[in-house]
Amino acid sequence: MALMQTSPYRVLSQRTCSSFRKTTVGLFNFRGSPSVRGFYLLNTAYYSNYSSDNFCSSSKRRSRGPVMAAKKASEGSKREDGKYRHTVNLPDTAFGMRANSSVREPEIQRTWDDKQVYSRVVDRNNGGNFILHDGPPYANGDLHMGHALNKILKDIINRYKSLDQDARKGLTPLKLRSKAAKFAKQTVQNQMASFKRYGVWADWNNPYLTLDPEYEAAQIEVFGQMAIQGCIYRGRKPVHWSPSSRTALAEAELEALFTITLSQNWTIINCNSSNELSYEAFVQYPEGHVSRSIYAIFKLVDAPPTSSGLLKEFFPELCLAIWTTTPWTIPANAAVAVNAKLQYAIVEVHSLSENVSLSAETKKRKFGNVLKESKKLFLIVASDLVLTLEAKWGMKLIIRRTLSGSDLENCRYIHPIDSRECPVVIGGDYITTESGTGLVHTAPGHGQEDYVTGLKYGLPVLSPVDDGGKFTEEAGQFVGLDVLGDGNMAVVKYLDEHFSLIMEESYGHKYPYDWRTKKPTIFRATEQWFASVEGFRPAAMNAIGDVNWIPSQSENRISAMTSSRSDWCISRQRTWGVPIPVFYHVQSKEPLMNEETINHIKSIIAQRGSDAWWLMTVEDLLPEKYREKASEYEKGTDTMDVWFDSGSSWAAVLGKRDGLSFPADLYLEGTDQHRGWFQSSLLTSVATKGKAPYTSVITHGFVLDEKGFKMSKSLGNVVDPRTVIEGGKNQKEAPAYGADVLRLWVSSVDYTGDVLIGPQVLRQMSDIYRKLRGTLRYLLANLHDWRADYAVSYQSLPIIDQHALFQLENFKMNIRESYEKYQFYKIFQIMQRFVIVDLSNFYFDVAKDRLYVGWPTVNETWLAFPAKEIDFWTKVLELRTEVNKILEVARTEKLIGSSLDAKVYLQTSDASLASRLCEMCAASNDADTLHRVFITSQAEVIPSLENELISHIPFSGECLIQGQSNVWIGVSRAEGSKCERCWNFSPQVGSFLEHPTLCSRCYDVVGVQPLPAVALTS
Ligand SMILES: [Zn+2]
Repeated sequence: MALMQTSPYRVLSQRTCSSFRKTTVGLFNFRGSPSVRGFYLLNTAYYSNYSSDNFCSSSKRRSRGPVMAAKKASEGSKREDGKYRHTVNLPDTAFGMRANSSVREPEIQRTWDDKQVYSRVVDRNNGGNFILHDGPPYANGDLHMGHALNKILKDIINRYKSLDQDARKGLTPLKLRSKAAKFAKQTVQNQMASFKRYGVWADWNNPYLTLDPEYEAAQIEVFGQMAIQGCIYRGRKPVHWSPSSRTALAEAELEALFTITLSQNWTIINCNSSNELSYEAFVQYPEGHVSRSIYAIFKLVDAPPTSSGLLKEFFPELCLAIWTTTPWTIPANAAVAVNAKLQYAIVEVHSLSENVSLSAETKKRKFGNVLKESKKLFLIVASDLVLTLEAKWGMKLIIRRTLSGSDLENCRYIHPIDSRECPVVIGGDYITTESGTGLVHTAPGHGQEDYVTGLKYGLPVLSPVDDGGKFTEEAGQFVGLDVLGDGNMAVVKYLDEHFSLIMEESYGHKYPYDWRTKKPTIFRATEQWFASVEGFRPAAMNAIGDVNWIPSQSENRISAMTSSRSDWCISRQRTWGVPIPVFYHVQSKEPLMNEETINHIKSIIAQRGSDAWWLMTVEDLLPEKYREKASEYEKGTDTMDVWFDSGSSWAAVLGKRDGLSFPADLYLEGTDQHRGWFQSSLLTSVATKGKAPYTSVITHGFVLDEKGFKMSKSLGNVVDPRTVIEGGKNQKEAPAYGADVLRLWVSSVDYTGDVLIGPQVLRQMSDIYRKLRGTLRYLLANLHDWRADYAVSYQSLPIIDQHALFQLENFKMNIRESYEKYQFYKIFQIMQRFVIVDLSNFYFDVAKDRLYVGWPTVNETWLAFPAKEIDFWTKVLELRTEVNKILEVARTEKLIGSSLDAKVYLQTSDASLASRLCEMCAASNDADTLHRVFITSQAEVIPSLENELISHIPFSGECLIQGQSNVWIGVSRAEGSKCERCWNFSPQVGSFLEHPTLCSRCYDVVGVQPLPAVALTS
């Protein structure tokens, strides 16, 4: 771990590479340096080379050197001094600088297909499986950026796990699933083609589909196990009901609209995921949902003996005041609920009729007839709300008495429409004084809390509304009217005519919509099948605790949703999907469903698919034992909630397919799946297996535009993955970046929150991509003639190479650690730093003229680079930065052109540093010499500044290395003449008769490598 701490790969806090290097100006030390001459305060502009397109621009400028010159020559430009050019090891590669992605990527992807690269990679792995279970697709046509984020993240994990041989982990195919017949199959085909174009690897020929008979049978099996264990029951309870699609809905099939009132305008202020509000809704219903809310009054007729003393004196003018946003539920009213802990007031109402109509605020309000009567009126409201209601109603409310909520229990009132006597009951903490009157109109057939309160008091579950949302005959004179339209208005009118309405006003609020039809839903009690979440909630909560949630906050999210959810309504009134395998007795309507009937149906569906339920007769669908009585039964017509379909995938896929196992290692979907697939899978799995179907769950955020706004067609800020890859109509504005740039973007974002993308982000990504590509190209170009037998043993490598290998090993270790933590954005940052700072700006720069070195393979050795050496090399790198500053001054002042024209002098009072630097000057391996590190022709360590020599050194400066060692740096012209071959200066140039323009090193190299005839004659 000590190595880790000294690791140069600190995680960077910013995305762009321009923030990599800290400002170095401050490292110069001004104090006590009277002899410093030619000192310039340098700015950091010099180090901005990594923001330019080409990595190596700094070294080019400082010392173009033979390699670059040769490269230039090889690219076609003429060079006059070519005598020794053929003796230089030229870089060479077919790997282009430009990606040419629109041509090359499809070619590469075809090669993957043709050569079955994916399945071969899978086959080569014989370690344990890693199972990433792919979730339900959104079978809604074309893919958007969210799909790209999701699938590419999965692919990154999949590829890491499949290529990670050392970790002995294998891979199972990504699976794709879908849910509806031909349309779905076509959609699946289209989506697959797009995913393939994203470069995603998967077993595309073998996806799983929820409409496969095998899948459907497994789903029936899960349902059967739950039924046999008593987790499934039939009940008449209020459920979300969509009149527009005539079916019950689960919470995950709803979209909420949320508006709040700002002065007189309805303004949508918030629609975000944290609030469970859908952005789609925001786009589709810009006006939000506005209800007609009413304040109505119900006349008290009786009080129990315990409280009659408090109330009787106000009879018969005493009424309960209630408030509701769904007047159409008044016919189903069965009680008024109060909170026992709240204080209530009996108020006498005094009309201020003149003022009422004048206020601008009242324009949206309509006051009831009851206020126009001159009769006495006493109302019961929560004490805390008296002032609010006075203001709202424009009336004077004189408090005549206060009493507690419990005093009101068992009082009786007359139902305003059908004259039933109904009770006042004690409700729960849901009754507050935040809005309304503190008394809650209770209709157990139309609300979950009402239903629960109703159970306590044995209230009737009235729901006089049919499948299409129209009043039934049970609703008397309202029969046939639409509860969300004329029925609602008729109820309000009736109440007003019968002196039961105080006020009506528009009210904007959060309201559930059907996600398919985009129409409002209602709460309605019908006979439905439920999964008893109540029954296994503790087990579900425990299972949540056993899962690794990434990011960790998502555990709170799913815990809150699971702990608060009511029983799961799993039946739907639809004719497609998987049937609920139940028969009903024709006369008694009693359901018939047991292990035998379920198993029989399961085996039929396994062979013939779920269509059999509709095609076959009751007789054929019943097991042998029941056949004789077939005429007494009819088939159920309900199907299962689609979330039950997808929530059974662990059983249908993980449990059934070869090579897969339960639970999966990972589920990875968007954060909206906490109440969708993550939860439905958890519930079915906990109910039947007692544990979660996954050991880890990753959630990612939504994709927003680069300003942080949600994408929408109307805002024109949609980034389409296809356009990113293939380019838009205007290729200038929307160039074809290719799948690699899209994938690089996915890897760069911290997906645990919402992520941003837009033209600017893509341009930056494309720049970084080019830099990475340039580095790969540089490496490939220099390895073109490499052969395994060129390898040099680690011990024989120059120390600078050992240091580079140490850095490489650290780099690998750090990225592997980030892969294991699924933190790809850290890999992105680590890689950028490694490529730009460690390789491009230093190692490649220095190693340029000796690129014939092979790489050893025993990498543990590389990591064992001694701590003392790491420390020293850190100092050398820092010193190099300081030397470069003085060189730059000398260059600006025209003393030198290339850095090879210079000689560097160093002086330090740090004796141990001075001695190591002296050793370097005399290093036996040329690659390790100090002047090579500086890319100058010479470097010398001088013992003291009290030296005649100093006065001849034109440029100098001082710096503090590692905050402790003061080093004086001087720069002068190099000694001797320039070598024609390597461009280094040396006093020995001119001393070899045969090659008068070469230095001794080049003389030696050329001596071993005789010039070919063609070169000699030129
Ligand atoms: Zn030379």
